Amino acid sequence: MPSKTYRIAVIPGDGIGVEVMPEALRTLDVVSKRFDIDFEYQHIEWASCDYYLKHGKMMPDDWKQQLSSVDAILFGAVGWPATVPDHISLWGSLLKFRREFDQYINLRPARLFEGVPCPLANRKAGDIDFMIVRENTEGEYSSVGGVMYEGTEREVVMQQSIFSRFGTERVLKFAFDLAQRREKKITVATKSNGIAISMPWWDARAAEVAALYPEVAVDKQHIDILCARFVMSPDRFDVVVASNLFGDILSDLGPACTGTIGLAPSGNLNPERKFPSLFEPVHGSAPDIAGKNIANPVAMIWSAAMMVDFLGGNVAGPERDAHDAIVAAIEDVLKHGPHTGDLGGKASTTEVGRAISERLAGAS
Ligand code: ATP
Ligand code: MG
Repeated sequence: MPSKTYRIAVIPGDGIGVEVMPEALRTLDVVSKRFDIDFEYQHIEWASCDYYLKHGKMMPDDWKQQLSSVDAILFGAVGWPATVPDHISLWGSLLKFRREFDQYINLRPARLFEGVPCPLANRKAGDIDFMIVRENTEGEYSSVGGVMYEGTEREVVMQQSIFSRFGTERVLKFAFDLAQRREKKITVATKSNGIAISMPWWDARAAEVAALYPEVAVDKQHIDILCARFVMSPDRFDVVVASNLFGDILSDLGPACTGTIGLAPSGNLNPERKFPSLFEPVHGSAPDIAGKNIANPVAMIWSAAMMVDFLGGNVAGPERDAHDAIVAAIEDVLKHGPHTGDLGGKASTTEVGRAISERLAGAS
């Protein structure tokens, strides 16, 4: 009998989400056998555009209750703009999870693997390996604002940025904790020269939190030059913490520097574990390649690995071992193939998923 059973909500969503999800589950099957960790799945068909077309909403009214007993959510991708506008599908599902489950950390690793062509010149595997910690619930993405004198010559629009002391301190603390466990250095994204009220305030909060972590070296960078440095010298970063908007920009740029969006995983975390956390690839539903079994499943499989580590409390133990073993299997398959089209190969989603599972099963 496995020693542990975690209850996981499985939400494939739309497009390639439906194709990459089975590969994550295949990986978790091997994890159960090798590491004595068991998963009980709650398969969910809502939070998809198909569901919306049938029911006029993205999720049932009791969605929160239905998910009340799960330990984590494994999420594929949502969106099918040909039939449902993105703002409806996104705000009706994923963004509801983030807000109502208080998943205030968006954690996104960026790492350059051997066997993956890097768009930056003269970079090799190991040169890029950092974590972006993005604030996920407030900041520039508040829905506070409005339009006045709409449609007239005097039309004005305003949208507020909201930074709470509570919200800012908790994301900074999470990031400094992470830095403390890694290389003891952190980059804090800001723009206090241009956004002269909220960003100096953000810097002050960062300085206060930094005082609690005297061993962590702090590097404060304006977002514009920080973007340039991601491209010019990505090797200098280890943990990068940023507000919602800046983190969003950085966490597309980071993975772009490491080859393909098909590799980038993410966790939407409620670190206190009061609500379930959600793990999903950074990429979307990719309608342009959906239904062809050619999507890269690595981002989804790596997201599942992040989930397992989080379930284990991010400390040494079978869950951490399982995470490390999945990442090692991914490393091996990226190095030796098979590869999907985004990496210049011809293999299918299923072939790459199977290869990762086989390496994981075979590795001792
Ligand atoms: P979002 O849903 O986050 O707004 P998007 O719809 O703008 O994202 P994606 O769905 O991520 O974009 O797709 C962007 C591009 O990357 C597309 O050309 C898509 O085919 C490609 N892509 C995304 N995910 C993968 C993957 N797993 N494997 C291969 N290519 C991918
Ligand atoms: Mg999309």
